[in-house]
Amino acid sequence: MRKYVIMGVQGSGKGTQSTLMRRDLELTHISVGDILRWHVQEHTKIGAQVRRTMTAGELVSDDLVESIVRDRLQQHDWNYGFLIDGFPRNVRQASFFLESYDIDGVIHLDLPDEDVQKRVLSRRLCANCGMDYNLISDRPEVEGKCDVCGGKLVTRADDTPEALAARLRDYYSKTEPVLELFRRKEYVLTVDARPDPATVQNAIRAGLGLPPGK
Ligand code: AMP
Repeated sequence: MRKYVIMGVQGSGKGTQSTLMRRDLELTHISVGDILRWHVQEHTKIGAQVRRTMTAGELVSDDLVESIVRDRLQQHDWNYGFLIDGFPRNVRQASFFLESYDIDGVIHLDLPDEDVQKRVLSRRLCANCGMDYNLISDRPEVEGKCDVCGGKLVTRADDTPEALAARLRDYYSKTEPVLELFRRKEYVLTVDARPDPATVQNAIRAGLGLPPGK
């Protein structure tokens, strides 16, 4: 069983790389951001609690995120392991996580700030099926429409310059110390996130000693 954490500033390709990894390795992808967005979309009680914080690009409370992660991992639908994305985002969350789970590695996608800005502000999402697009590198065939389901492409509510600035601030002040902590434990594989997705995926697999992707 393989248990990985994938980290990186927003727009570094965590979602894309997770999708490429989980396909043939049968890892369960757990994205805290996706779970929270589902709650907002479905108007649940949790959704009402986190909507504003998320739109502003700020972090939601540790208690809430920890209970979401605990509940998700307790479902035990991860026979071959998991890949957790968007968590831990600060040292407290990291300590909580390490107390309960051992991990095999941390994939750190490294992307300079100028690329972050370019990527995040051109990111689009299908409102219906959640497929990701990028108006620079991964354009839909028909403008504004999802290639898979024909749904409408929208901008994530937190992909604005203001929210991006807030998320970058949090990343450097709160998430970087988590990387330091994991580095001390020699868990971290840092990969250059600038090349195309297939190249990045190959570098991840080579670094972790995993079979090449299909
Ligand atoms: P993401 O999709 O990972 O960029 O997450 C989107 C938003 O969800 C973040 O900007 C936060 O508001 C919230 N979020 C996701 N993961 C966490 C976490 N581990 N701790 C606190 N807030 C989080």
